[in-house]
Amino acid sequence: MKDTLKHRGMRNKLAEILSEKGIGDKQVLDAIKAIPRHLFLDSGFEAHAYQDKAFPIGADQTISQPYTVAFQTELLEVKPGSKILEIGTGSGYQTAILLHLRAKVFTIERQLELFKKTSIFFGKIGYRPKKIIFGDGYKGLAEEAPFDGIIVTAGAPEVPKPLMAQLRVGGRLVIPVGIDDQIMTLYIRKSAKEFEKKEFGSFRFVPLLEDKN
Ligand code: SAH
Repeated sequence: MKDTLKHRGMRNKLAEILSEKGIGDKQVLDAIKAIPRHLFLDSGFEAHAYQDKAFPIGADQTISQPYTVAFQTELLEVKPGSKILEIGTGSGYQTAILLHLRAKVFTIERQLELFKKTSIFFGKIGYRPKKIIFGDGYKGLAEEAPFDGIIVTAGAPEVPKPLMAQLRVGGRLVIPVGIDDQIMTLYIRKSAKEFEKKEFGSFRFVPLLEDKN
């Protein structure tokens, strides 16, 4: 698959739609315009890649809806050089958006099939996260902590404690919390012990699964 002018045109439209839906951060909209989402999908979905919809990516998982990606990215307030931990690599689309914003990205995926597929895809297309890890994101990534931002792209029944602990003071954790549907939740670490919590709208994600071993 290639990236063409037609695809670019569709991305500009998509960015317009997201802006109408309330995404205000120009950098985030520019990232949506830049990243060729159709390359992250199986070829059967190519024609639909720039609709504001989630699609299956294999292993019972989905690529998040562009609005959701933009909303979470906006809440994360990524700056060039920000150290970001992503839980749920999936297709790698959200990872690519973070890389476009010049974040240093560490990303964890627990499905071996997706981990392999996306690692190979990143190599081919030339995207360079700092690390792609096959493992359980519930535990975070203690050896690389603290992070400026942590983004969870699966629905968490509760907020994993290690993720709170691995946030830098001033850092932001963006996590959808809930079982059937999820409330988008932002935690800002105010000090070693204090977190400010803000809640946003309701979203629907595949579940964040904990590996109990
Ligand atoms: N950011 C992805 C969204 C994929 S859906 C994208 O843009 O495509 C959520 C992903 O989280 C799935 O790939 C799922 O396998 C993964 N996941 C679920 N529980 C996890 C866990 N405990 N640790 C790491 N990844 C997890």
